[in-house]
Amino acid sequence: MASGRSAASLMRAVRVTEFGGPSVLQLQSDVPVPKPSDKQVLIRVHACGVNPVETYMRSGTFAWRPTLPWTPGNDVAGVVEEVGNGVTKLKKGDRVFTNKTITGGYAEYTVASDDSVHPLLDNLTYKEGSAIGSPYFTAYRALLHKARSRPSEMVLVHGASGGVGIAACQIARAQGLKVLGTAGTAEGMCLVEKNGAHKAFNHREAGYTDQIKDYTGGRGVNVIIEMLSNVNLSNDLKLLSNGGRVIIVGCRGSIEINPRDTMAKESSIIGAALGSATQEDLQETVASLLAGMELGWLKPVVGPEFPLEKAALAHEEIIKGSGAMGKMILTI
Ligand code: NAP
Repeated sequence: MASGRSAASLMRAVRVTEFGGPSVLQLQSDVPVPKPSDKQVLIRVHACGVNPVETYMRSGTFAWRPTLPWTPGNDVAGVVEEVGNGVTKLKKGDRVFTNKTITGGYAEYTVASDDSVHPLLDNLTYKEGSAIGSPYFTAYRALLHKARSRPSEMVLVHGASGGVGIAACQIARAQGLKVLGTAGTAEGMCLVEKNGAHKAFNHREAGYTDQIKDYTGGRGVNVIIEMLSNVNLSNDLKLLSNGGRVIIVGCRGSIEINPRDTMAKESSIIGAALGSATQEDLQETVASLLAGMELGWLKPVVGPEFPLEKAALAHEEIIKGSGAMGKMILTI
């Protein structure tokens, strides 16, 4: 939890001053608390989600290199401390979560643009709130904006036990889809079935794609939400039904595919990037997710928790991937 120091003083924050391995995530205790400008909000952070993309950015290998010094973290949950001029929908003391920050969320305080700050309903904790941002916004984008999934279609969430995967299972189930999910452990499969999937499969088990195909009666799935396309894309094309769509959410390298696998089925490979969402897309997403919170189908699963000073360890663990059990977060 953030210390009781006033918003005018210094704060603890993780800072990256050079690109490199996890050890470049340095906790500093004398970072000035940022000031919100017009249409911006200062938030006292209680928890912040850790996303794989923050490890790519930290290493300097990602397409977008942040300006240094840089504090990672877009998905915070906390309390509004101060609002800038022109902010009308939020006030000091409001419980909120974000899908983007300006000054970084691995910190006791962060500043975000007011359109990236949303009410956190009382039925969710701050830890759960920090698991909403990137995972649920990405899952919604992949399922609705990119795959254009429709009720009664069958979706395979390929990598369903992590942050985006659990979110995708919950959203897809609420939309009336038939949901299949994969995980790499028995515990992960159990978690996936508790969070919206009708059936889970183990992506570390030989022959699991045949099991999925059999489960569909040989017809294949309409949509695949793919978390590791550099491993799975070739098999995905064989698992799709006629007119099927595979949505590339995660990718850590290249893979050879046979384009012919798309021809007879007229299937599609579609990229998804949260960063490409328009303001209109984001507003639609927020409306749906807030309804999910009100109705209770949006219930983030908090997985491994690390204190702020262990951010480097969190970055090591999220890439090691020893069996995801929901969303990894930092507690502040
Ligand atoms: P995460 O919480 O670390 O989860 C990773 C998931 O991948 C786990 O469910 C893991 O399952 C699964 N996985 C491991 N090996 C797999 C395999 N061979 N086949 C299928 N799945 C496998 O990460 P996340 O936050 O959910 O993010 C998932 C991916 O989406 C990452 O690559 C991330 O960079 C990307 N992403 C993209 C966007 C975008 O805008 N496009 C936004 C957010 C995230 P087990 O651990 O159970 O094996």
